[in-house]
Amino acid sequence: MTVIPFEKQGLHVMVKPIGPICNLDCEYCYYLRKEDLYPSSERWRMSLELLESFIQQYFAAQPEDVPEITFAWQGGEPTLLGVEFFREVVRLQQKHAPPGMKYANTLQTNGVLLNAEWCQFFKEHQFLIGISIDGPAEVHDHYRYDKKGNPTFEKVLAGLRLLKAHQVDFNVLVVVNRVNAQLGRKVYTYLRDNGAEHLQFIPIVEHELEKHDQPAVPPTDAPTEAWGHLVSERSVLPEQYGQFLVDVFDEWSRRDIGKVFVQIFDQALSAWLGYEPGLCIFRKQCGRALAMEHNGDLFSCDHFVEPDWQLGNIQQTALPILANSERQIQFGIDKEATLPNYCRECEVRFVCNGGCPKNRFITTPGGDEGLNYLCAGYKLFFNHIDPVMKAMVQEIKENRSPANVMQQLRKKEKPVAARPKPAANQPLRPGQFPGRNDPCVCGSGRKYKKCCGT
Ligand code: SF4
Ligand code: SF4
Repeated sequence: MTVIPFEKQGLHVMVKPIGPICNLDCEYCYYLRKEDLYPSSERWRMSLELLESFIQQYFAAQPEDVPEITFAWQGGEPTLLGVEFFREVVRLQQKHAPPGMKYANTLQTNGVLLNAEWCQFFKEHQFLIGISIDGPAEVHDHYRYDKKGNPTFEKVLAGLRLLKAHQVDFNVLVVVNRVNAQLGRKVYTYLRDNGAEHLQFIPIVEHELEKHDQPAVPPTDAPTEAWGHLVSERSVLPEQYGQFLVDVFDEWSRRDIGKVFVQIFDQALSAWLGYEPGLCIFRKQCGRALAMEHNGDLFSCDHFVEPDWQLGNIQQTALPILANSERQIQFGIDKEATLPNYCRECEVRFVCNGGCPKNRFITTPGGDEGLNYLCAGYKLFFNHIDPVMKAMVQEIKENRSPANVMQQLRKKEKPVAARPKPAANQPLRPGQFPGRNDPCVCGSGRKYKKCCGT
């Protein structure tokens, strides 16, 4: 495998033109708290001078042979800036793009403010939209509400339908949390049946180390739930996340290969084909996906928007100098250098590579620090998909469609027997689907049919 030098790799900056300001108040949003970084900020809006300077610098910072660069607009909620702001973005890009350089725009939104004007603009300028939905209404509205505490699902679904009606390309981003993690197949089929063709499943892991004196170390034979006390009650448990992905994969691999695209499945196929995954969390090293705040402050990564990881401000120091600084190079190298031996000897390291350093806060069974909190889930999922991935690789090597494995899988399987119902008051296993009269998965104590299953 050819190793491309750090500064020759394409540079990706996630831009926050409105900082962390948002019209919603989702319980688990990690970015809303970033308001604390700028206590005296009165103007949460990137100035047009800075916008132009960033666009110029971003083009200049890219290696010559990069096939295409992506401008990624995020928040907070970027649509609060209004369409005119993004018309200016497009105008400045056209003004400063070097001849022959291909570029694209992506924009992440909660979907609530989308209307025909936005969708026409996105279609005209080929923006790729990321829209956040956590599943059907009863699941989505569990954590995602507006500033007054009102549910948001209906507005988001209307936004998604508008995108579809205007033929705008979009990805659905699902935050996998303690509630919807029990409902992998239901969440996936619901979104698929509502027109989602590209999906990403992002695990929510809110580390609560500050509540503990030091990293807690459960006994090595402890069940995965033993790690639960290290994270918030909304955070997905490691094996829950793995089982969620397994449930989605089992449905997808029997019906939807080639029709629906799930980011982690694409990453896995690329690894089973012998390539390094493209997504930073599964790469050996990282450091080429930075984040920039509304005032030009540049940070090592969107998950490290903290004073300790601020590289500088692009109004004082040029973007390429900051992005290629020793400090940032070391940030990327550390991802691999700090990998515990447990990961180095792992059977699925070739696809996992230890996951994102943000989540490496548990210890290995041997007591080494720096293991990823989601490890048990990754192991469960990547080992589960191994036979299907090998079958898909075989099809590709023989110049056939990997979609052929769907028929092979269905042929092999006997009709699935009905799942046994849990005894009353027994907790559900991860991945087990609750019956209408079972206790609700969210822990409310009410029956599922009267709570999240209404
Ligand atoms: S810290 Fe995590 S999210 Fe950030 S670039 Fe590295 S792997 Fe990606
Ligand atoms: S599955 Fe676990 S042990 Fe294996 S590479 Fe990933 S985090 Fe490390």
